[in-house]
Amino acid sequence: MTKINKEEIVQSVPQKGFFGQPKGLFTSFFTEFWERFSYYGMRAILLFYMYEEIVNGGLGMDDGIAKSIMAVYGSLVYMSGIIGGWIADRLLGTQRTVFYGGILIMLGHIALALPFGITALFVSMFLIIIGTGLLKPNVSNIVGDMYSAKDIRRDSGFSIFYMGINMGALIAPFIVGTLGQKYNYHLGFGIAAVGMFLGLIVFVATRKKYLGLAGTYVPNPLEDGEKKKVFTRFGIGGILVIIIAAIGIKTGILTINRFTYLVSFLAIIIPTIYFIVMYRSKKITKDERSRLLAYIPLFIAAMAFWAIQEQGSIVLADYANKRTELSFLGLDIQSSWFQSLDPLFIILLAPVFAAMWMKLGIRQPSTTRKFSFGLIFGGLSFVVMVIPALLHSGTDTLASPLWLLLSFFIVVLGELCLSPVGLSATTKLAPAAFSAQTMSLWFLSNASAQGINAQIVKLFKPETEVAYFGIIGGIVMVLGVILFLISPRIQRFMKGVN
Ligand code: GLU
Ligand code: ASP
Repeated sequence: MTKINKEEIVQSVPQKGFFGQPKGLFTSFFTEFWERFSYYGMRAILLFYMYEEIVNGGLGMDDGIAKSIMAVYGSLVYMSGIIGGWIADRLLGTQRTVFYGGILIMLGHIALALPFGITALFVSMFLIIIGTGLLKPNVSNIVGDMYSAKDIRRDSGFSIFYMGINMGALIAPFIVGTLGQKYNYHLGFGIAAVGMFLGLIVFVATRKKYLGLAGTYVPNPLEDGEKKKVFTRFGIGGILVIIIAAIGIKTGILTINRFTYLVSFLAIIIPTIYFIVMYRSKKITKDERSRLLAYIPLFIAAMAFWAIQEQGSIVLADYANKRTELSFLGLDIQSSWFQSLDPLFIILLAPVFAAMWMKLGIRQPSTTRKFSFGLIFGGLSFVVMVIPALLHSGTDTLASPLWLLLSFFIVVLGELCLSPVGLSATTKLAPAAFSAQTMSLWFLSNASAQGINAQIVKLFKPETEVAYFGIIGGIVMVLGVILFLISPRIQRFMKGVN
């Protein structure tokens, strides 16, 4: 494939037509809107589907295992972004990778829509893990491709895109959740598949006209000789993994529980290797090496934050389902609807935060300080969940839905301090030679968080509730305070990035 230069790409995208942004943003926005609709819609009912009794249409799994699977699944979904980044970079280019990703995701939801029980669950998970790895980091990268380096609309373009993500996540629980819980889980999963189908239609119908050359080129294509070597290695590797897994399952050595340990291990080891490889690379400068050191505490902070935020669809979802009054002001509510609270507050508060940072101008807190606020709010969102059990002296009564509302509100205060800032900090702190992988690096913080969650979430039970929220929330708050105190030192390592 011929090399195309950056300017040529930018010029090929109609530069106006979507809220004053390049027209291609429409394509990325709606593709990602529908993809997130399908993902968060599915996740809003998946835990319940797994542990619900078989007679009620569920799979009748053990509670703890079901929670662990939710975390392992989330972890692998973000880990596979590494594969998606590599395929786009070296084989297919971003646009084609997104397309194939969308197809796999849709097939994954279709698998769950069919009444094939646990087999369908694992097939679906496999397809959605690979599919999301192909789609998510790349659809975000296309956004970056549409702006010239100096374009001041870039950040607001990403904010609009971020709204798209959260709008998809906001409406999904009401549609997929309601149909899934009130009528039939498979119907819910079917609607998630329809969502991804609509996303694919938008993508295919508008990409030629709106995206121009963005994402059509392969930045660092494999040479013909290399191709053969790589394919043989992947082929043999893939077959070996399948054989080992098959033997493991047959002999009973590879249990779900052991698999969760494997994922937790990978979740720690992969970012560690990433950092070591980058740190030792000859392609990075002295300043970049210093910035990389500064990025390590931020990465750990992001991990701690996502560990709490991602438990919204596991532990807090469970709390909504079993420990919360499901009526409010005379209105019946579904437990899946609580999953809309995070994206709802994001949409309501993101403009407030943007205005606040603008107003503060150069007096706004540094990136590291913002991260520390993220942790403090994240931890606090768990600590407040200690109160209902203490108020009612026990966990056998139902708590008011307002507690979850409060918890999600507080976690979003943290999310807005950390999530948008984190992605931009990653792009600024990652060494130039590794810039193509920055999106995967950022998503790895979430993958690692959920890999650790796989071990933690199974400990949540009515008997442990107070200690669970108190200890985890408390630890994360303490981490936040430490980060706040050492932030000036970390900032010094950033060499001019603030
Ligand atoms: N919840 C956001 C999304 O689904 C952010 C995930 C992350 O950055 O780790 O896009
Ligand atoms: N706020 C999350 C993200 O930005 C969405 C969610 O948790 O529902 O997409």
